[in-house]
Amino acid sequence: MQISQDIVIIGGGVIGSSIAYFLTVSDDFDGTVTVIEKDPSFEFGSTGRSWGGVRQQFSTPENIRMSQYAQEFLGNITRHLSTDGAPVNVAYVERGYLFLAKDWQIPVLYGNHTIQRGEGVEVGLLDADDLARGFPWLNVSDLAGGSFGLKGEGWLDAYSLHQAFRKKAISQGAKYLTAEAAGLTCDKGQVLAITLSDGTEISCGAVVNAAGPAASDVAAWAGIDLAVRSRKRLGFSFSCRESIDHCPLVIDPSGVHFRPEGQQFLVGCSPDPENDPDCTDFEIDYGWFDEHIWPILAHRVPAFEAIKLENAWAGHYAYNLLDQNAVLGPHPDIRNFYFANGFSGHGLQQSPAVGRAIAELILFGGYRSLDLSRFSFSRMVTEKAILEHNVV
Ligand SMILES: Cc1cc2nc3c(=O)[nH]c(=O)nc-3n(C[C@H](O)[C@H](O)[C@H](O)COP(=O)(O)OP(=O)(O)OC[C@H]3O[C@@H](n4cnc5c(N)ncnc54)[C@H](O)[C@@H]3O)c2cc1C
Repeated sequence: MQISQDIVIIGGGVIGSSIAYFLTVSDDFDGTVTVIEKDPSFEFGSTGRSWGGVRQQFSTPENIRMSQYAQEFLGNITRHLSTDGAPVNVAYVERGYLFLAKDWQIPVLYGNHTIQRGEGVEVGLLDADDLARGFPWLNVSDLAGGSFGLKGEGWLDAYSLHQAFRKKAISQGAKYLTAEAAGLTCDKGQVLAITLSDGTEISCGAVVNAAGPAASDVAAWAGIDLAVRSRKRLGFSFSCRESIDHCPLVIDPSGVHFRPEGQQFLVGCSPDPENDPDCTDFEIDYGWFDEHIWPILAHRVPAFEAIKLENAWAGHYAYNLLDQNAVLGPHPDIRNFYFANGFSGHGLQQSPAVGRAIAELILFGGYRSLDLSRFSFSRMVTEKAILEHNVV
């Protein structure tokens, strides 16, 4: 059976573009896909400001499975996303994530390890001696252990992945409209049309909210309270005179995380919840680097005592207030309104699985490949949080 609905996706970042790709590639789809995107430069959304990290080390099986699919997808990316047979290069660097733990964090690290191994993740547990041997530039004096990804983790160029999805979707017939969505017309439990800021109305068979940090505004047009907010994250790049061999993506027990980027390093850290307001500005607090981040860096890697701050950027992500996990699928009362929101800091790597999942829901009314029903909107109402222990 072919589905011939007109699907409108609000937001053309990596999530909206992946959904557009998976819909238009399907033999079961015979409708139209229109992606409404207000920022054709894609400069200000989450995707353009992402670290592009992909990891298997989550504590929720569904999050692990989504990243496993990302690996599989990346391994065949040219077959999936090339428009002319030329190789698609998203500058993927395969390198493990290294989660470091103090004494009190060991039980959670071991618990996560059991779940990860159960899902087939290739990950190793290290004690302090292993850490000192494997990463001689690391200060392990206050560490009890760590968890290191042996396969299937790394980072890529987020912009390149996004553009590859977008170009392929367009080549398969998706239309990208540079416009700002400003409202929804709903009647009898259905979205009938999207209103643009210039007053134009676009009728639809189904609408997908892929508006990233603006997701709750779009939901509010349908009278839905979506507990997803825009939260600012700062990234800093620095150089170091000494070479740090085979540096993985390191997550310090404090939450400060760093990784190499060419000849330099990137570093970031999520603020404490009490210092993490809803935010849409792009201001950079350099004092935070000097007072909070740099002392932790210098303690963890003595060579980082002498570093030069090179650059900084601010980005926002769609922070799910309930549990920092995705909200996926239709609204229980407005069945043709789909959420693809709330990914917090792991939406880039989830984009292939989410695009496939939302396409399956629209086309078949249920998940076919990976059951992601735990992430449905209903948990936002029942407040049954999915407790993911490994949120970076
Ligand atoms: C600093 C930082 C580091 C990150 N690191 C990682 C990482 O290492 N790994 C990982 O997996 N994830 C990471 N993330 C998260 C990841 O980048 C996001 O989860 C992902 O990019 C979300 O994609 P999206 O398409 O939902 O959102 P976006 O890219 O924000 O796209 C939403 C789009 O909707 C458009 N839009 C909004 N409202 C409207 C409207 N009314 N009308 C028309 N268009 C509209 C916006 O212009 C925007 O382009 C990071 C994020 C940040 C900020």
